[in-house]
Amino acid sequence: LKADFAMIRRESGFISGLVCVLHDVTEQEKNEQERREFVSNVSHELRTPLTSMRSYLEALADGAWENPEVAPKFINVSLEETDRMIRMISDLLELSRMDSKNQPLQKELVNLNEMFNFVIERFEMLITSNNMNYKIRKEFTRRTIWVEVDSDKVIQVLDNIMNNAIKYSPDGGEITCSLLETHNNVIISIADQGMGIPKRDLKRVFDRFFRVDKARSRSLGGSGLGLAISRDVIQNHGGTIWVESEEAKGSVFYISLPYVPVEEDLWE
Ligand code: ADP
Repeated sequence: LKADFAMIRRESGFISGLVCVLHDVTEQEKNEQERREFVSNVSHELRTPLTSMRSYLEALADGAWENPEVAPKFINVSLEETDRMIRMISDLLELSRMDSKNQPLQKELVNLNEMFNFVIERFEMLITSNNMNYKIRKEFTRRTIWVEVDSDKVIQVLDNIMNNAIKYSPDGGEITCSLLETHNNVIISIADQGMGIPKRDLKRVFDRFFRVDKARSRSLGGSGLGLAISRDVIQNHGGTIWVESEEAKGSVFYISLPYVPVEEDLWE
């Protein structure tokens, strides 16, 4: 809502009233504004890696290609920047597919305990093969949770959050993965002991391109789109995603999905 004020002035010069006109800033205007912001964000995000690549390529063209000390490094940086742009464009395509509802969810009944385990095991492997020392702790309900979800999409969300837990916490930290059910929801949580998120940014981390620390996120290869995609996926499943966090202590990301408990004996 936008408000315009006008004063009613008598001939004598006294102010005898105040008129307030309220304009409804329409949904359309808001969408238009969001669209403009989005285009400007995308342009900016792509310009950064392109500018950096350009300066490395220019240096190579100017003769650095003959210098075996620096040439491989310059080429590697250019390759990394290219990869980052490819990742960002794939993320953008994914968001746009979800926006236009072009891609209906491929839902199937899955065992969530198994699915989450599968993701955790992959990360354990990654941690070992990269000589890292993160510890993953599991706190799972003893019940087997069956949910109807698009497994590729939900795995992508779990990957994203696990990846962030590692990216934004120091090596050696503990990551606690939990899975529990209430009577009509299943709640997944992933807690880390990392840098945390300032209170004022807790909601914004799910916005497209929002990062608490742009430089840090970029240097870790982030596009700033992972959590925006995650939120779309979870909302498309009728669920919610949120985060609780304390700076310098750590963050906990929660996903809640609708769940109808099924009598175990039906599956025997
Ligand atoms: P990015 O590619 O930058 O990681 P995301 O959409 O996945 O993009 O996350 C958005 C931002 O939220 C990150 O840049 C980071 O600032 C913050 N963030 C996400 N996960 C965590 C976490 N576990 N701990 C601290 N900050 C986080």
